[in-house]
Amino acid sequence: MPRTLPKPTPETRHFWEGCKLGELRLQRCRSCGEAYFPPRPFCPECAGRDVEVFTASGKATLYSYVINHRPRADIGTEPHSIAVVTLAEGPRMMTNIINCPQTPQALQLDMPLQVVFGNESAEISLPYFEPTVQP
Ligand SMILES: [Zn+2]
Repeated sequence: MPRTLPKPTPETRHFWEGCKLGELRLQRCRSCGEAYFPPRPFCPECAGRDVEVFTASGKATLYSYVINHRPRADIGTEPHSIAVVTLAEGPRMMTNIINCPQTPQALQLDMPLQVVFGNESAEISLPYFEPTVQP
């Protein structure tokens, strides 16, 4: 069974188009400077409507996670993380941490992460995060 994928709406289209191009797009309020996610046509801080879309760095840190052990129809029985990351620009995002062991030993809070996009369909790529490779 395939994963249920999001359907772009007029409010979220810029985000999904960015993901397809390998860009993590956030919005920023021109009035108060707040960067925010998820997409919406007004600022969650000051309700201002003078907002712009910008491409984020794709860098984040691990804020919180759980390891899900329940089988999922699309990925099978492997445990997988359901995480909340803090983007370098400030907003938090729910995602999965991939390309690392799905264990508490490997998933350290505040660990540096970078975005990686998973090509799920012709229209949708999902943003996941993986550990930043240390130089
Ligand atoms: Zn604002």
